Amino acid sequence: MTNFEYEKLTEFDNHRTVLYLHDHAVGLKGFIALHRGGFHNPTFGATRFWNYVSEKDALRDALRLSRLMSYKSALAGLSYGGAKAVLIAPVADEKNRERILRSYASQVNLLSGNFITGTDVGLDRRDLTLMKKVSKFFVGFRYNPEYYTALGIYHSIKVCLSFLFGSSEVQGRSVSIQGLGKVGALLLAFLYKEGAHLIITDLQSDLIRKLKKKYHRVQVVPPQEIYKQKVDVFSPCALSGPLNIKSINKLNCKIIAGGANNQLASEEIGALLFRLGILYAPDYVVNAGGLISVVDEFEYPQQDSDRIKKRLAIIPKTLKLILAESVRKKIATNLVANHLAEKRIKEFI
Ligand code: NAD
Repeated sequence: MTNFEYEKLTEFDNHRTVLYLHDHAVGLKGFIALHRGGFHNPTFGATRFWNYVSEKDALRDALRLSRLMSYKSALAGLSYGGAKAVLIAPVADEKNRERILRSYASQVNLLSGNFITGTDVGLDRRDLTLMKKVSKFFVGFRYNPEYYTALGIYHSIKVCLSFLFGSSEVQGRSVSIQGLGKVGALLLAFLYKEGAHLIITDLQSDLIRKLKKKYHRVQVVPPQEIYKQKVDVFSPCALSGPLNIKSINKLNCKIIAGGANNQLASEEIGALLFRLGILYAPDYVVNAGGLISVVDEFEYPQQDSDRIKKRLAIIPKTLKLILAESVRKKIATNLVANHLAEKRIKEFI
């Protein structure tokens, strides 16, 4: 166990277990945090491999993200608790990276199936294949989780449009997307096909060039310009914390619905958005499609993408409920979602 007094960290939420991963021989360091569940059903949460500035930083991320996974799971109608693993990426050559991942996978085995995991930022399918050879508790092979994440966001945008404008029609609506990685690019494809006016940005200019070639109607802006675009929908699909005290003053959108985890720098930002009259679709509600697909892979021996699409219907259903409750009680959508998730965690997880 770590020598941190992790109970004193603000991110600590009576987590069930926090494991300190350490294999000096190969250079593995990190944490596995199990937030809720793990008694009758396993916990779910992907593994992040990231260049954290300190162990404390990594631990905070594991605590925060594992909690988010419990909320995501509960509101997706799943009875699995949330978890997260974070590995502190050392400067390592390919061979050493392999040794670290093998050592990590063997530590996942120590949890005897109470923790089911896959890949998050910093890990790819090749890494997943390697770790699966050591541990059977890795998922994310059968489907492309990003596809279902993007599909859930697309349906959520339609719910928000309908809620605000009385029609879920995407054609003619303007949408700005921040981050055109795996999720953002798929979302772009869905919206482009339906005739949305799209404004996009990414830090990687090569990626933007390729997308502009394929989707010639899109408008490209530099990363720092994305917040101030006058659009119906702003969709953050890059990293955590895009909605903060600085950025929200620049916003010129009516709806925020995107894939990035932890979009709000703090819960108070959600309240500020509410006061500004901007409809915020809570991130962990709208981006649950990937989780639903890996849970389906875990639960069923047979592949069935129609089954996942049916299961995805819970996302727009829950979002509608949250938006209606927010109007009825006059409280911010993030707070409505948090209350609902906490209630469901107590009942089902
Ligand atoms: P990704 O790494 O493939 O893409 C992220 C993109 O954002 C990259 O192209 C990167 O260059 C860009 N980016 C980073 N910072 C930026 C900035 N400041 N301005 C503009 N662009 C920036 O990741 P992904 O899998 O597409 O996931 C995107 C987000 O969605 C992440 O926050 C992730 O945690 C979350 N998420 C992903 C899934 C999934 O299924 N992959 C599921 C749930 C949530």
